[in-house]
Amino acid sequence: MTLSRESLARLPKAELHTHLDGCVRPATLLALADRAGVELPAATPDGLADVMLVRHAHNLEEYLDRYKVTVSVLQSTEALARVAQELVQDAAAEAIRYLEVRFCPALHAPGVSIEGALEAVLDGLRAGEQATGTIARVIACGLRTLPPATSLAIARAAVRHRDTRIVAFDLAGAEAGHPPAAHREAFDAARDGGLRLTCHAGEGAGAEYIREALAVCHAERIGHGVRLAEDPGLETEVATRAIPLEMCLTSNVHTRTVETLEAHPLARYLALGIPVTLNTDSRLMDRTSLTQEYWLAHTTLGLDAAALRRVALNAFRHAFLEDGDKTALLKRVTPELEELA
Ligand SMILES: [Zn+2]
Repeated sequence: MTLSRESLARLPKAELHTHLDGCVRPATLLALADRAGVELPAATPDGLADVMLVRHAHNLEEYLDRYKVTVSVLQSTEALARVAQELVQDAAAEAIRYLEVRFCPALHAPGVSIEGALEAVLDGLRAGEQATGTIARVIACGLRTLPPATSLAIARAAVRHRDTRIVAFDLAGAEAGHPPAAHREAFDAARDGGLRLTCHAGEGAGAEYIREALAVCHAERIGHGVRLAEDPGLETEVATRAIPLEMCLTSNVHTRTVETLEAHPLARYLALGIPVTLNTDSRLMDRTSLTQEYWLAHTTLGLDAAALRRVALNAFRHAFLEDGDKTALLKRVTPELEELA
Protein backbone atom coordinates (compact mmCIF):
# COMPACT_ATOMS: atom_id res chain seq x y z
CA MET A 1 0.00 0.00 0.00
CA THR A 2 1.29 3.44 -0.90
CA LEU A 3 1.60 5.85 2.00
CA SER A 4 0.80 9.49 1.47
CA ARG A 5 3.60 12.01 1.40
CA GLU A 6 1.70 13.97 4.05
CA SER A 7 1.83 11.02 6.44
CA LEU A 8 5.64 11.01 6.05
CA ALA A 9 5.78 14.77 6.61
CA ARG A 10 3.82 14.29 9.85
CA LEU A 11 5.85 11.28 11.00
CA PRO A 12 8.03 12.31 13.96
CA LYS A 13 11.62 12.16 12.75
CA ALA A 14 15.17 12.59 13.99
CA GLU A 15 17.95 13.73 11.70
CA LEU A 16 21.54 12.82 12.52
CA HIS A 17 23.44 14.01 9.42
CA THR A 18 23.00 17.47 7.98
CA HIS A 19 25.57 20.17 7.24
CA LEU A 20 24.88 23.71 8.39
CA ASP A 21 26.63 25.20 5.36
CA GLY A 22 24.61 22.91 3.08
CA CYS A 23 21.28 24.06 4.46
CA VAL A 24 21.12 27.81 3.89
CA ARG A 25 17.78 29.09 2.59
CA PRO A 26 18.32 30.71 -0.86
CA ALA A 27 16.68 33.98 0.25
CA THR A 28 18.92 34.07 3.32
CA LEU A 29 21.98 33.40 1.19
CA LEU A 30 21.09 36.45 -0.91
CA ALA A 31 20.44 38.64 2.12
CA LEU A 32 23.70 37.63 3.80
CA ALA A 33 25.69 38.13 0.58
CA ASP A 34 24.17 41.57 0.15
CA ARG A 35 25.15 42.58 3.66
CA ALA A 36 28.68 41.16 3.33
CA GLY A 37 29.25 42.54 -0.19
CA VAL A 38 29.79 39.05 -1.61
CA GLU A 39 28.97 38.38 -5.27
CA LEU A 40 26.76 35.31 -5.83
CA PRO A 41 26.25 33.29 -9.03
CA ALA A 42 22.54 34.30 -9.22
CA ALA A 43 20.45 37.25 -8.04
CA THR A 44 17.07 35.69 -7.14
CA PRO A 45 16.18 32.95 -4.65
CA ASP A 46 14.93 30.63 -7.42
CA GLY A 47 17.96 31.30 -9.61
CA LEU A 48 20.25 30.66 -6.69
CA ALA A 49 18.42 27.46 -5.73
CA ASP A 50 19.03 26.23 -9.30
CA VAL A 51 22.72 27.13 -9.34
CA MET A 52 23.36 25.59 -5.93
CA LEU A 53 21.65 22.29 -6.77
CA VAL A 54 24.31 19.76 -7.73
CA ARG A 55 22.80 17.48 -10.33
CA HIS A 56 25.65 16.22 -12.42
CA ALA A 57 28.77 16.22 -10.29
CA HIS A 58 31.33 13.64 -11.32
CA ASN A 59 32.40 12.97 -7.77
CA LEU A 60 32.26 14.14 -4.19
CA GLU A 61 34.92 16.81 -4.76
CA GLU A 62 32.88 18.57 -7.43
CA TYR A 63 29.83 18.48 -5.19
CA LEU A 64 31.77 19.96 -2.28
CA ASP A 65 32.79 22.93 -4.44
CA ARG A 66 29.31 24.44 -3.94
CA TYR A 67 30.00 24.74 -0.23
CA LYS A 68 32.53 27.49 -0.99
CA VAL A 69 29.60 29.71 -1.96
CA THR A 70 27.71 29.29 1.30
CA VAL A 71 30.85 29.47 3.41
CA SER A 72 31.74 32.78 1.71
CA VAL A 73 28.71 34.46 3.31
CA LEU A 74 28.97 32.68 6.67
CA GLN A 75 31.78 34.87 7.90
CA SER A 76 30.11 36.56 10.89
CA THR A 77 28.60 35.28 14.11
CA GLU A 78 25.26 36.87 13.12
CA ALA A 79 25.18 34.94 9.84
CA LEU A 80 26.04 31.64 11.54
CA ALA A 81 23.42 32.11 14.25
CA ARG A 82 20.73 33.07 11.74
CA VAL A 83 21.34 30.08 9.49
CA ALA A 84 21.40 27.72 12.48
CA GLN A 85 18.12 29.09 13.81
CA GLU A 86 16.42 28.87 10.41
CA LEU A 87 17.59 25.30 9.95
CA VAL A 88 15.88 24.27 13.21
CA GLN A 89 12.71 26.05 12.05
CA ASP A 90 12.80 24.27 8.69
CA ALA A 91 13.36 20.94 10.43
CA ALA A 92 10.52 21.52 12.90
CA ALA A 93 8.16 22.33 10.01
CA GLU A 94 8.51 18.72 8.81
CA ALA A 95 8.12 17.13 12.26
CA ILE A 96 11.83 16.65 12.94
CA ARG A 97 11.85 16.45 16.73
CA TYR A 98 15.60 16.00 17.12
CA LEU A 99 18.34 17.42 14.92
CA GLU A 100 22.11 17.06 14.93
CA VAL A 101 23.70 19.87 12.92
CA ARG A 102 27.30 19.51 11.83
CA PHE A 103 29.78 22.04 10.54
CA CYS A 104 33.50 22.78 10.48
CA PRO A 105 34.10 25.78 12.74
CA ALA A 106 37.51 26.54 11.19
CA LEU A 107 36.06 27.94 7.94
CA HIS A 108 34.89 31.30 9.25
CA ALA A 109 38.22 32.94 10.05
CA PRO A 110 39.58 35.57 10.22
CA GLY A 111 36.18 37.11 11.07
CA VAL A 112 35.13 34.35 13.44
CA SER A 113 37.36 32.10 15.56
CA ILE A 114 36.72 28.37 15.98
CA GLU A 115 35.26 29.01 19.42
CA GLY A 116 33.26 32.00 18.19
CA ALA A 117 31.75 29.91 15.41
CA LEU A 118 30.75 27.14 17.83
CA GLU A 119 29.14 29.68 20.18
CA ALA A 120 27.27 31.44 17.37
CA VAL A 121 25.80 28.20 16.07
CA LEU A 122 24.87 27.11 19.59
CA ASP A 123 23.08 30.46 20.08
CA GLY A 124 21.14 30.01 16.84
CA LEU A 125 20.18 26.43 17.64
CA ARG A 126 19.07 27.40 21.13
CA ALA A 127 16.82 30.14 19.70
CA GLY A 128 15.41 27.66 17.17
CA GLU A 129 14.83 25.08 19.86
CA GLN A 130 13.02 27.58 22.08
CA ALA A 131 10.79 28.68 19.22
CA THR A 132 9.88 25.20 17.97
CA GLY A 133 10.52 22.57 20.65
CA THR A 134 12.78 20.66 18.26
CA ILE A 135 15.88 19.57 20.17
CA ALA A 136 19.07 20.59 18.35
CA ARG A 137 22.65 19.52 18.97
CA VAL A 138 26.03 20.24 17.34
CA ILE A 139 28.59 17.93 15.79
CA ALA A 140 31.93 19.68 15.25
CA CYS A 141 33.63 18.54 12.04
CA GLY A 142 37.27 18.37 11.18
CA LEU A 143 37.97 18.39 7.45
CA ARG A 144 40.14 15.79 5.74
CA THR A 145 41.66 18.42 3.46
CA LEU A 146 42.78 20.60 6.38
CA PRO A 147 45.85 19.69 8.43
CA PRO A 148 45.32 17.13 11.22
CA ALA A 149 46.46 19.87 13.65
CA THR A 150 43.36 21.88 12.68
CA SER A 151 41.13 18.88 13.38
CA LEU A 152 42.80 18.57 16.77
CA ALA A 153 42.22 22.28 17.50
CA ILE A 154 38.54 21.85 16.56
CA ALA A 155 38.17 18.76 18.75
CA ARG A 156 39.80 20.55 21.68
CA ALA A 157 37.63 23.66 21.24
CA ALA A 158 34.53 21.46 21.05
CA VAL A 159 35.56 19.72 24.26
CA ARG A 160 36.27 23.05 26.01
CA HIS A 161 32.90 24.41 24.98
CA ARG A 162 31.08 21.25 25.69
CA ASP A 163 27.90 22.22 27.36
CA THR A 164 25.16 19.72 26.74
CA ARG A 165 24.70 20.89 23.14
CA ILE A 166 28.02 20.00 21.47
CA VAL A 167 27.72 16.27 21.41
CA ALA A 168 30.20 14.84 18.94
CA PHE A 169 33.17 15.10 16.60
CA ASP A 170 33.14 14.09 12.92
CA LEU A 171 35.56 14.08 10.01
CA ALA A 172 34.14 15.40 6.71
CA GLY A 173 35.31 16.70 3.33
CA ALA A 174 36.87 15.14 0.22
CA GLU A 175 37.43 11.51 1.17
CA ALA A 176 39.55 9.86 -1.54
CA GLY A 177 43.24 9.90 -0.63
CA HIS A 178 42.49 11.26 2.85
CA PRO A 179 42.30 8.33 5.28
CA PRO A 180 40.59 9.01 8.60
CA ALA A 181 43.55 7.64 10.57
CA ALA A 182 45.52 10.80 9.69
CA HIS A 183 43.17 12.61 12.09
CA ARG A 184 43.29 10.02 14.82
CA GLU A 185 44.65 12.43 17.42
CA ALA A 186 41.58 14.65 17.01
CA PHE A 187 39.25 11.67 17.46
CA ASP A 188 41.18 10.62 20.56
CA ALA A 189 41.04 14.12 22.05
CA ALA A 190 37.31 14.34 21.40
CA ARG A 191 36.67 10.95 22.97
CA ASP A 192 38.88 11.65 25.98
CA GLY A 193 36.93 14.91 26.43
CA GLY A 194 33.60 13.11 26.55
CA LEU A 195 32.37 13.71 23.01
CA ARG A 196 30.78 11.01 20.87
CA LEU A 197 32.30 10.10 17.49
CA THR A 198 31.06 9.73 13.95
CA CYS A 199 33.02 9.74 10.70
CA HIS A 200 32.21 10.19 7.01
CA ALA A 201 33.43 7.02 5.28
CA GLY A 202 32.54 4.78 2.35
CA GLU A 203 31.16 7.71 0.33
CA GLY A 204 33.97 9.19 -1.79
CA ALA A 205 36.24 6.21 -1.07
CA GLY A 206 35.90 2.49 -0.40
CA ALA A 207 35.09 0.24 2.53
CA GLU A 208 38.69 0.32 3.78
CA TYR A 209 38.07 3.79 5.23
CA ILE A 210 34.97 2.51 7.05
CA ARG A 211 37.15 -0.18 8.59
CA GLU A 212 39.73 2.41 9.61
CA ALA A 213 37.10 4.82 10.99
CA LEU A 214 35.82 2.04 13.24
CA ALA A 215 39.07 0.32 14.19
CA VAL A 216 41.48 3.26 14.43
CA CYS A 217 39.28 6.29 15.06
CA HIS A 218 36.68 4.46 17.19
CA ALA A 219 33.74 5.97 15.31
CA GLU A 220 30.41 4.95 16.86
CA ARG A 221 28.41 5.80 13.74
CA ILE A 222 29.39 6.04 10.08
CA GLY A 223 28.41 8.94 7.82
CA HIS A 224 27.02 7.37 4.61
CA GLY A 225 28.81 3.99 4.67
CA VAL A 226 27.37 3.31 1.22
CA ARG A 227 30.31 1.19 0.05
CA LEU A 228 30.27 -1.11 3.09
CA ALA A 229 29.15 -4.10 0.98
CA GLU A 230 32.53 -4.08 -0.81
CA ASP A 231 33.92 -5.81 2.27
CA PRO A 232 31.64 -8.73 3.26
CA GLY A 233 33.54 -9.39 6.49
CA LEU A 234 33.19 -5.78 7.55
CA GLU A 235 29.52 -5.76 6.56
CA THR A 236 28.92 -8.69 8.89
CA GLU A 237 30.86 -6.95 11.65
CA VAL A 238 28.84 -3.72 11.25
CA ALA A 239 25.62 -5.74 11.42
CA THR A 240 26.78 -7.74 14.46
CA ARG A 241 27.93 -4.64 16.31
CA ALA A 242 24.82 -2.72 15.15
CA ILE A 243 26.85 0.26 13.97
CA PRO A 244 24.41 2.92 12.69
CA LEU A 245 24.80 4.27 9.15
CA GLU A 246 23.80 7.88 8.48
CA MET A 247 22.54 7.47 4.89
CA CYS A 248 21.57 10.27 2.51
CA LEU A 249 19.87 8.96 -0.63
CA THR A 250 19.66 12.06 -2.82
CA SER A 251 23.15 13.22 -1.90
CA ASN A 252 24.58 9.78 -2.69
CA VAL A 253 23.17 10.05 -6.22
CA HIS A 254 24.41 13.62 -6.64
CA THR A 255 27.96 12.73 -5.56
CA ARG A 256 27.92 9.67 -7.84
CA THR A 257 28.45 7.40 -4.85
CA VAL A 258 25.65 5.36 -6.43
CA GLU A 259 24.78 5.61 -10.12
CA THR A 260 21.03 5.53 -9.56
CA LEU A 261 18.72 5.71 -6.59
CA GLU A 262 17.44 2.22 -7.43
CA ALA A 263 20.99 0.89 -6.92
CA HIS A 264 21.25 2.33 -3.40
CA PRO A 265 22.10 -0.38 -0.83
CA LEU A 266 20.03 1.06 2.06
CA ALA A 267 17.35 -1.66 1.89
CA ARG A 268 20.04 -4.37 1.80
CA TYR A 269 21.72 -3.03 4.94
CA LEU A 270 18.37 -2.67 6.69
CA ALA A 271 17.54 -6.30 5.89
CA LEU A 272 20.88 -7.36 7.39
CA GLY A 273 19.85 -5.73 10.65
CA ILE A 274 22.17 -2.72 10.38
CA PRO A 275 20.57 0.32 12.05
CA VAL A 276 20.35 2.55 8.99
CA THR A 277 18.99 6.08 9.27
CA LEU A 278 17.75 8.56 6.66
CA ASN A 279 19.19 12.07 6.44
CA THR A 280 19.35 15.03 4.06
CA ASP A 281 23.11 15.81 4.10
CA SER A 282 22.35 19.14 2.42
CA ARG A 283 18.95 20.73 1.86
CA LEU A 284 20.30 23.36 -0.54
CA MET A 285 22.80 21.46 -2.72
CA ASP A 286 20.52 18.41 -2.88
CA ARG A 287 17.21 20.33 -2.95
CA THR A 288 15.71 17.88 -0.54
CA SER A 289 14.02 17.56 2.83
CA LEU A 290 13.91 14.68 5.28
CA THR A 291 10.31 14.02 4.23
CA GLN A 292 11.55 13.72 0.63
CA GLU A 293 14.22 11.20 1.70
CA TYR A 294 11.56 9.07 3.45
CA TRP A 295 9.34 9.41 0.38
CA LEU A 296 12.15 8.18 -1.90
CA ALA A 297 12.88 5.28 0.45
CA HIS A 298 9.20 4.35 0.26
CA THR A 299 8.49 4.90 -3.43
CA THR A 300 11.84 3.94 -4.97
CA LEU A 301 13.47 1.51 -2.53
CA GLY A 302 10.20 -0.13 -1.48
CA LEU A 303 10.39 0.44 2.28
CA ASP A 304 6.92 -0.13 3.73
CA ALA A 305 5.41 1.50 6.80
CA ALA A 306 7.04 -0.97 9.20
CA ALA A 307 10.48 -0.46 7.63
CA LEU A 308 10.10 3.33 7.68
CA ARG A 309 9.05 3.23 11.33
CA ARG A 310 12.14 1.17 12.05
CA VAL A 311 14.38 3.65 10.22
CA ALA A 312 12.82 6.55 12.11
CA LEU A 313 13.24 4.76 15.42
CA ASN A 314 16.88 3.94 14.57
CA ALA A 315 17.60 7.67 14.32
CA PHE A 316 16.03 8.44 17.70
CA ARG A 317 17.77 5.47 19.35
CA HIS A 318 21.22 6.28 17.98
CA ALA A 319 21.06 10.02 18.57
CA PHE A 320 24.03 11.43 20.48
CA LEU A 321 21.63 12.75 23.09
CA GLU A 322 22.12 12.28 26.82
CA ASP A 323 20.45 9.07 28.05
CA GLY A 324 17.76 10.69 30.21
CA ASP A 325 16.67 13.12 27.50
CA LYS A 326 16.71 10.34 24.92
CA THR A 327 14.49 8.09 27.01
CA ALA A 328 12.00 10.93 27.45
CA LEU A 329 12.05 11.73 23.73
CA LEU A 330 11.56 8.08 22.76
CA LYS A 331 8.63 7.82 25.13
CA ARG A 332 7.03 10.86 23.49
CA VAL A 333 7.50 9.79 19.87
CA THR A 334 6.94 6.01 20.03
CA PRO A 335 3.11 6.17 20.13
CA GLU A 336 3.15 8.69 17.27
CA LEU A 337 5.43 6.48 15.17
CA GLU A 338 3.00 3.62 15.54
CA GLU A 339 0.32 5.69 13.81
CA LEU A 340 2.11 5.25 10.46
CA ALA A 341 0.46 2.28 8.84
ZN1 LIG B 1 27.89 14.69 5.03
